[in-house]
Amino acid sequence: MDLIIRRASLPRSASQHKEPVDIGIEAGRIIAVEPHLAASAPEEIDAAGSLVTPPFVDPHFHMDATLSYGLPRVNASGTLLEGIALWGELKPQLTQQALIERALQYCDWAVARGLLAIRSHVDVCDPRLLAVEALLEVKRRVAPYLDLQLVAFPQDGVLRSAGAFDNLKRAIALGVDVVGGIPHFERTMADGAESVRILCEYAAQQGLRVDMHCDESDDPLSRHIETLAAQTHRLGLQGRVTGSHLTSMHSMDNYYVSKLLPLMREAGVAAIANPLINITLQGRSDTYPKRRGMTRVPEMMAAGINVAFGHDCVMDP
Ligand SMILES: [Zn+2]
Repeated sequence: MDLIIRRASLPRSASQHKEPVDIGIEAGRIIAVEPHLAASAPEEIDAAGSLVTPPFVDPHFHMDATLSYGLPRVNASGTLLEGIALWGELKPQLTQQALIERALQYCDWAVARGLLAIRSHVDVCDPRLLAVEALLEVKRRVAPYLDLQLVAFPQDGVLRSAGAFDNLKRAIALGVDVVGGIPHFERTMADGAESVRILCEYAAQQGLRVDMHCDESDDPLSRHIETLAAQTHRLGLQGRVTGSHLTSMHSMDNYYVSKLLPLMREAGVAAIANPLINITLQGRSDTYPKRRGMTRVPEMMAAGINVAFGHDCVMDP
């Protein structure tokens, strides 16, 4: 063996051992997990009973915006809409070099905290595709130590923003992995539904996954997740589609949700909640009662829907 980690506590769900164990590693693979490994290795680490876990996965992040806090100014209202507007103000000033440097710095932070896989959305509404090219370069550079997956994200709306769909297709052609969207930001509910349809059809044609910012809103009538589940079902995309945020579900009535969750389950649509960001962003127009901004995590899990937590933002608008 090349490496032995001694006296490691494992997560209860991952181990039949209640006592700390030794973990033996050879050629980059775990080959033995036992209470007292008799073997020795050139490198041994004494975990002294500390927890040893698989690496963390962050399924929702924005690496093109990270570490840009205060550029060009701070978000005064604390709302998502001002955040999106601020990002729009910053876009013309972005340089590829600065984007790459901030993203690489963030990747160092992430890996140091145990994150070895990140799905990052990347804004495709800038026709220069500056951020796309920057993050593809970052993906190449971090590949030896971090699995970075990119989502083509039309931040300003694939229908609302002129040329956005063409830019999204160009980003996919350059090597971006997943089709994104933002139906609640389109001009109307009908446009939102239409954006879900065209993006899912494109993903089905191309054999790609879908991960949409979906219903990141306090409006209980923001029900694009219903359309996303229906299009997933219609196009046979089961197991390949994710709805990110889904915060409007905190304001929907229970009767409607009792119909919605089985539709999501049937379509195999996964949910990604981003608690750190949404408990801060949502409910900003509320006086009392003040809504928490979280989607229905326990209810979705009980319904058999795959749920994950993402980080979304670190020091950005
Ligand atoms: Zn996001």
